[in-house]
Amino acid sequence: VISRVAVGLASLALVAGPVLAATPAHAVLARPNVAAGHASTIAGCVTGTAKPVGRYGHDPATITPAVQAKVQGQLNAETTTLKADAERTAARDLVRGRVTTTVPVLPAQIHVPVVIHIIHGTHKKDRNVSRSAARNLFRILKAGYAGKQDPTMVPTGVMFRLAKVTVSRNDSWYHARPGTRADKQMKRKLHRGQKNMLNIYLNSVSEPDGALLGFSRFPWAAARQPKLDGITINVASMPGGRAHAYNLGDTVIHESGHWLGLFHTFQGGCEAPGDGVADTPAEAEPSFKCNKTRDTCPTPLPAGWVQGDPLPAPELDPVTDFMDYSYDTCMNHFTPGQRTRMVTAFLRYRAVH
Ligand SMILES: [Zn+2]
Repeated sequence: VISRVAVGLASLALVAGPVLAATPAHAVLARPNVAAGHASTIAGCVTGTAKPVGRYGHDPATITPAVQAKVQGQLNAETTTLKADAERTAARDLVRGRVTTTVPVLPAQIHVPVVIHIIHGTHKKDRNVSRSAARNLFRILKAGYAGKQDPTMVPTGVMFRLAKVTVSRNDSWYHARPGTRADKQMKRKLHRGQKNMLNIYLNSVSEPDGALLGFSRFPWAAARQPKLDGITINVASMPGGRAHAYNLGDTVIHESGHWLGLFHTFQGGCEAPGDGVADTPAEAEPSFKCNKTRDTCPTPLPAGWVQGDPLPAPELDPVTDFMDYSYDTCMNHFTPGQRTRMVTAFLRYRAVH
């Protein structure tokens, strides 16, 4: 079973206290649909329709409706503040006799320092990645956000800068499962920087019955547990790794999307608010492989539509989006709506003043 685990359960920390970060798909499937006593909407792998695609699993990003609503409220408040700031700036410019151009609400760029922690295991079969392999993964991260995988993508303006690469040899860290003592110990020891710094851990993210491609913490969890913030990437997902069809390195782009506040494109299935992003059509379940003509949700009718009006064009599932579970060869872009959400979430939860 596989999971490109997005850090779902970590988000529960908001309402349920410390919770482990991610669970492999099969484990979630086997568990009652209850999280710490809260009604939970479990995304993706838990719908029962997700099929195992190999030894590795995606992150099941579990988010309760309560957390989702709370986060959306905070993001809306941030947007209101940013708009007010932009209006004040425009008014000030007008008074000073400057040409009144539209003042952008969001900055064109945000700057994200990155530290990569390479963990080496001690067994012969362990894949111990080199510093140059880590730097190569960083280039993949950067290029993905810059739109280099899809010439039609608007660059996100998320500017990553590699500040440091560390190397540790520790077998329990190498095999650390999400939320375990080894996982927390590793992060408390190695975590660097403040909330704006992306800490990337490269290990084998073991699970009893397979492995995860990676997992992440959401930005709203960073303030409460700053040392546990960051993303973990399975070395099997790195270029040339053993995770068949998921070994071109795109997992680092997907997980950092969660780190910047994005949900899976299939969050909530066909039901509103879905992933909270307007330009990623709803989809009922994760996409594995790359079926670009898939359409799993009914197309919403536009406001004011009445019987007899033309039907809207169907909206195909966003299977090539970085926040789906498709093959690395398939996923290639973020949307402008995702860009807006990431930058807004960064300003709200990760900006360091
Ligand atoms: Zn994910």
